[in-house]
Amino acid sequence: MLQRQQHPRSVAVIGGGIAGLAAAHRLTELDRKCSTTLFEAGPRAGGVLSTLHEDGFQVEQSADNFITTIPWGLELCRRLGLEDRLARTNPANRRTFVVRRGRMHPLPDGFLMMAPARLWPLAVTGILGPWGKIRAACEYFIPPRGDQSDESMAAFVRRRLGREAYERLVEPLVGAVYAADLEKLSVLATLPRFRDMEREHGSLIRAMRRAMHGRANAGRESGARYGMFVTLRDGLSSLVEALVSRLPDNAMKLNCPVIRIERHADNWRVTSQPSVKADHTPHRNFDAIILATPSHVTAKLLEPLDALLAERLASIAHSGTAVVSLGYDSNRIGHPLDGMGVVVPAVERSPILACSFSSRKYPHRAPAGKELLRVFVGGARRPELVDMNDDRLLSMVLDDVSRLLQIRGGPCFCRIARWPATMPQYRVGHRELVAEIESRAAAWPNLQLAGNAYRGVGIPDCIHGGKLAAERIINLSE
Ligand SMILES: Cc1cc2nc3c(=O)[nH]c(=O)nc-3n(C[C@H](O)[C@H](O)[C@H](O)COP(=O)(O)OP(=O)(O)OC[C@H]3O[C@@H](n4cnc5c(N)ncnc54)[C@H](O)[C@@H]3O)c2cc1C
Repeated sequence: MLQRQQHPRSVAVIGGGIAGLAAAHRLTELDRKCSTTLFEAGPRAGGVLSTLHEDGFQVEQSADNFITTIPWGLELCRRLGLEDRLARTNPANRRTFVVRRGRMHPLPDGFLMMAPARLWPLAVTGILGPWGKIRAACEYFIPPRGDQSDESMAAFVRRRLGREAYERLVEPLVGAVYAADLEKLSVLATLPRFRDMEREHGSLIRAMRRAMHGRANAGRESGARYGMFVTLRDGLSSLVEALVSRLPDNAMKLNCPVIRIERHADNWRVTSQPSVKADHTPHRNFDAIILATPSHVTAKLLEPLDALLAERLASIAHSGTAVVSLGYDSNRIGHPLDGMGVVVPAVERSPILACSFSSRKYPHRAPAGKELLRVFVGGARRPELVDMNDDRLLSMVLDDVSRLLQIRGGPCFCRIARWPATMPQYRVGHRELVAEIESRAAAWPNLQLAGNAYRGVGIPDCIHGGKLAAERIINLSE
């Protein structure tokens, strides 16, 4: 049990994304007397989380749901009284398509991210050729890796399932989720449970079959574990709004980019960019500080204090994505959209990473008679596309999506959101890098780091990181 402090303390949280909001909210929950100030560079809270309501469409401009097997998103929604606003994915459509030679094929039933739970759907899929299928099925007999060191996701999957299953199934699925190059992505930092499955059961297929045994609907889903995901009916921005509304008045400082942090005696001095409208002085002193900014920003802020720590933080690469949201009259789309979406392997050389059938995943996202599609481009595969001008980007995306989904005519609704340098790439060795960053940061009194660069990019992990940072600050200050 955390004890209440004797005296109010002041804490600066820098960065008003979900991690910073979760930190500020937790500080307020733990000690109402703790004076919390949340500095956000932009004009709104939430960071990449942003929901648009327009023309009857509900458009999630980046993340659109979160997993419940990592409990902290759900737990926060419960603490905020939002549980009855949660919606589950449509059970009718819990499967994914993958493109092969320009055509969409359903992913084999039971194939979840990196591992097949069932062999028959793999045997009859049109996505792999005969050798690719035989090689994937041999996974059952391939001995587990002897040592526990890290390896790239690509190396792990090729070792277990073979090259074709890697290129045609796993690369598009995992690459789309992490906007990443799987040749560099760390298996231990990104999806460690698959290495655990290999170690504990000797094979992914064996582990999946045991996990599915006796479960209703076992092995019917494909792609991600869609049954484990939820969203908020009013959009993920309603989570952001609920968090902001729980903060004390004036705690949230929007349009306040922090440009410098310094140690002065026993305090942290925070300097934000002066603004004519600001009701605060550019310098303020705090007892403690939580840096919930993207790690490349955190690196710049810490550079004058600890060059080595800054160098380590700066070494975490980021990719960016653009999300093109398209609304259509349902009768213009030839494809039945009987899935959650489609992913495109790099070997197809298409400009798109994936297209989510947003209104099929969560039916409340489009008005009756319309469909909402969200198309992802860029990532580590085609970084230049994130900066491409709207007209070129749109015409390229429309060409591809219209052909894939047999769409007649143009969209009735279109929005483009760009998220440059927002997706940290957990490269091989990331866990050791984070351990080093955390141990160097711990040498600074009352300093905590939070955000998606460290121990998970998903919303629940970011919430957990923010919450832990707040709890450590209160503990440290006792
Ligand atoms: C396109 C996309 C789709 C995604 N889909 C999903 C999904 O479906 N499910 C899921 O769980 N996750 C998803 N994610 C990942 C997840 O949404 C993010 O990892 C998470 O929201 C990041 O939160 P954060 O607080 O760490 O960072 P951010 O949201 O990036 O917030 C950082 C904040 O710091 C602010 N800031 C920067 N510099 C300064 C400064 N100098 N002073 C003050 N403030 C500053 C920024 O303005 C920003 O508001 C997705 C991400 C993207 C980009």
